[in-house]
Amino acid sequence: MGAEIEMDESEVLAAFRETKGLLEGHFELRSGLHSDRYFQCAMLLQWPAITARLCGALAARLRAAGVAGGVSVISPAMGGLFVGHELARALDARSIFAEKQDNRLVLRRGFRVAPGERFVVAEDVITRGGRVQETIEIVRGNGGAVAAIAVLVDRSGGAAQFDAPVFSLLRMVPATWTPAECPLCRRGLPLEHPGS
Ligand SMILES: [Zn+2]
Repeated sequence: MGAEIEMDESEVLAAFRETKGLLEGHFELRSGLHSDRYFQCAMLLQWPAITARLCGALAARLRAAGVAGGVSVISPAMGGLFVGHELARALDARSIFAEKQDNRLVLRRGFRVAPGERFVVAEDVITRGGRVQETIEIVRGNGGAVAAIAVLVDRSGGAAQFDAPVFSLLRMVPATWTPAECPLCRRGLPLEHPGS
């Protein structure tokens, strides 16, 4: 089992900044909106030891809330995979994943949900929560139950609602503006295009 050391938001934020999983500056998002912050979780997840530490902290919260006993972990590929895997290690549980096929998430590779099996749905970042909701439906559609949702970053600002408790290490909603309203453009800061 991994070390389960509690981490507060400032420590989690520091881990994101140090790994460049969170960038601060002036960014053009895929939506065309501008923002002063950009999450690229893969930059943090490229470091297994840091990922394990964060997932250990998530596991500690699940245990403290009494939802960790006897669960399995399921995550939506790709981003959720690493969180699911490390969370399962910390919980001494098994980890399976759902992946895209014909533009919807499905279970493949022989992964099964046992009748009544309880799952924690693991994800790296929640924005609108669509992938988490799809994963919840896969679990329930196969006769399982969802005990909790565990994410590193909830950037939904409370917009993503599920009928199971959500545990997150960091809640942050980056400000976004249309280019015409962007105060960073007005200040003449150079625009970056992360992820391209
Ligand atoms: Zn701008």
